[in-house]
Amino acid sequence: NQGPVITIDGPSGAGKGTVSQLVAEKLGWHILDSGALYRLLALAVEHHGMSTDDVETLKVLAEHLDIQFKQSEKGVVDIVLEGEVVTQAIRTEEVGNCASKLAAIPEVREGLLLRQRAFSQTPGLVADGRDMGTVVFPDAQIKIFLTASAQERAQRRLNQLQQKGDTVNLDELVKTIQERDERDANRAISPLVPAAGALVVDSTELTIEQVVEAVIAEAAKAG
Ligand code: C5P
Repeated sequence: NQGPVITIDGPSGAGKGTVSQLVAEKLGWHILDSGALYRLLALAVEHHGMSTDDVETLKVLAEHLDIQFKQSEKGVVDIVLEGEVVTQAIRTEEVGNCASKLAAIPEVREGLLLRQRAFSQTPGLVADGRDMGTVVFPDAQIKIFLTASAQERAQRRLNQLQQKGDTVNLDELVKTIQERDERDANRAISPLVPAAGALVVDSTELTIEQVVEAVIAEAAKAG
């Protein structure tokens, strides 16, 4: 018995990461940040100067890449790639775009599939990504599709980047977000679409707390 699963899928910047973390904390459940896996793979490909043409080698790398999610202090998880802490390094736009390109390769998705399923353990799992409800955990009891307008998602991303001291242009961000959405929604394999039966939540006008409550309420309904 691996316990129940809540899947939270949606485009980047919809608030999935924060919402998943808060829901997992409230329920005392495990968490899977599947986007981090694609980002880690992107970073590893860059570190090793690998070509992305050799898809069989990419698949083997996806299956065996040395990745750890280490709980440090309360609530803080260090993401470790081949012994190096890369928690911040995987969050750049560049790594995100590279991850999105790798994510369109079927062999890469196959290589990561079982690793993702292994996160499902008692008492339960909150799985955050693009295809959690459609492909990785099709039998999940609770499925959420979290979206927000591209403008709002760009604004949130801008605020994050400004807090880090980065200067970026909002129009540029809207453009890259729309490009990434396009690629994620239109790829042949595991496109970003709501799973059958998913509760669609548009967070454009909602606070994080309101979204968390909606997810917890959905989980309570499912028992
Ligand atoms: O969610 P995050 O922005 O970290 O994901 C990075 C990229 O990884 C996404 O743009 C998407 O292309 C890919 N991804 C995916 N399937 C997932 C999670 C992420 O294809 N389950």
